[in-house]
Amino acid sequence: MQGDEERDAKSAMLRGLRLRCPSCGRGRLLSGYLKVKDSCACCGQALHHASVDDGPAYFTLMVVAAIIFPLFGVIYAVGEPEPIWVALSMMVLATVLALLILPRVKGVFIGLQWAKRLFGF
Ligand SMILES: [Zn+2]
Repeated sequence: MQGDEERDAKSAMLRGLRLRCPSCGRGRLLSGYLKVKDSCACCGQALHHASVDDGPAYFTLMVVAAIIFPLFGVIYAVGEPEPIWVALSMMVLATVLALLILPRVKGVFIGLQWAKRLFGF
């Protein structure tokens, strides 16, 4: 039966991490910053089925926290910087990390949904 073959979740998630179509790995997954394209320009795979909700945001928050929180310990173990500069630099770093990580995590979630045929994929 056509279309029932098993899909490789690992490669689909890696393609999503690179913001590429989980099916072919060539077409762009997102248009703009976080909007999912309706379909892949290369293979025609319908992408509008993606329904990731808040999952990528929560996962991104955990990743950023796991990076930022230990940095406080490292910074204060090395020296005694002004707390205001530490707070400001960590806020900037956390924001930049979150903005970089969020679309990629969304791509991973969409890749997993595609591989597991969830939500109409
Ligand atoms: Zn494609």
